[in-house]
Amino acid sequence: MTRAHDHLLAAAALVVSAAVAAASANPGGIAAGLCLAVVAGLVAGGVDRCGQLLYPASIFAPAVSLGATGAGWAAGVIVAPLLAHVAMTGSRRPILVAALSASASVAGAAAPDRIGAAAVLVAVLVAAEVVVRIHRRLQDEGRRDRAKADELGTLLRVTDVLAALDDDDRAAEAIGELGSEILGGEASVVLVRREGLQVAWSGGEPDLADGPLHHAARAVAARSIGNGRPAWGTDEVVIAAGLAGLQAVPLAQAADGPLGVIVVARATPPTEHDELSLSVFAEHAGRALERILLLQRLADAALRDPLTGVGNRRALDAVLSHLRPGDAVALLDLDHFKAVNDADGHAAGDEVLIDFAIHLRRTTGPHDAVGRWGGEEFMVVLRGAHHQARDRVEQIAEAWRATSPRTTFSAGVALSGRDVSTEELLVEADVALYQAKDEGRDAVRLHGAPTDDDEPVAAPVAPS
Ligand code: GH3
Ligand code: MG
Ligand code: MG
Repeated sequence: MTRAHDHLLAAAALVVSAAVAAASANPGGIAAGLCLAVVAGLVAGGVDRCGQLLYPASIFAPAVSLGATGAGWAAGVIVAPLLAHVAMTGSRRPILVAALSASASVAGAAAPDRIGAAAVLVAVLVAAEVVVRIHRRLQDEGRRDRAKADELGTLLRVTDVLAALDDDDRAAEAIGELGSEILGGEASVVLVRREGLQVAWSGGEPDLADGPLHHAARAVAARSIGNGRPAWGTDEVVIAAGLAGLQAVPLAQAADGPLGVIVVARATPPTEHDELSLSVFAEHAGRALERILLLQRLADAALRDPLTGVGNRRALDAVLSHLRPGDAVALLDLDHFKAVNDADGHAAGDEVLIDFAIHLRRTTGPHDAVGRWGGEEFMVVLRGAHHQARDRVEQIAEAWRATSPRTTFSAGVALSGRDVSTEELLVEADVALYQAKDEGRDAVRLHGAPTDDDEPVAAPVAPS
């Protein structure tokens, strides 16, 4: 039933009680009714405007009715529990109040035995009170059960989502979105520790990664990371943004502190329950992040040459399986490298390998690939180099010579084409490398000449 219906029914009930009261009115009763109506008005102060009129009116009618026949004390007996009901339960349903008022008026005016009438009315009030309380308790329990089920469902979903993640960017996004949802936050930002605290993801309004709130978000994040515990922060800027504050919770505890932190913008301060939910969530999220970072480190180590830090043979194989026509594959082999080892020792030889790897990375583009093919032999894949392939490797050689290296290198270059398999391409590059060695070393040789077959194409083609 809507509030408007309540008010209509209440008004109808009050017409009945007013009519009964008017039929038996005397000045003493009216005075008692007025006094009680004022008290009821004060008690009903928090109700909407309609309720503020209904409450006093509903008290006035039975009081007048009972006072008229000299039973003023009975009015008190009836009205006192009614006021207590309103004050204690906060039940502001006008229909309930008006119905009680109507029955009080009728019973007060009609019953021959005033004491009996008062007793019946008190019983009615108590019964109504009990019904209201039971109904409310059932409603509360239902709401609590539903909230618990929702929360459990969310936590299970969180566990599922986090368990399926294998990439730290997606993990940061999932942690930010789920954390904000669990806390009922307006916005969130996830910061991870990589060379300082860095934003890994942010979403919602207002923006916590940029703009006026980012200082406050960073400050509370740093505090939480610093002591490894949740933190709550607020200042004028946060309040001006319509928020109560920013809640930060650390994600997973590594030996040197948390791996990251989630900061959630809240319109209301967190309850104890919120804190608990968030710490359970942060525990799950942190473990997921830890697992992903560990997997990434392992995957990275599996593809990297430990001495020089460039890709290893496995990484190069992956690159070779996705070549496109026009890509150039160059094998670069240090000249007389054995002599370096023999003259200066293995450690000095290692230094040369490290320097050479750094040089290759510096002299190639971000889309090119550099790796150690084995021993003192490296591979460079120059994306779409085609006609420039040989010149580009020559430039690498020239720049290397300019460093006054301990030793030069020779290179064999081959171009990837639509009709060349990876195996054939490697043989071609190797043949060109041997040619460079045979012709005196410190030289770059291209296998064959660029043709239409190895002309670069705009769209990627299937790996050969
Ligand atoms: P060439 O000009 O014909 O290529 O002569 P080279 O001496 O460079 O070639 P060779 O194949 O005779 O010798 C390669 C040497 O590279 C032998 C090996 O000990 C050395 N080598 C391979 N891997 C490493 C490494 O990781 N560290 C060091 N210091 N030396 C290595
Ligand atoms: Mg060599
Ligand atoms: Mg070699």
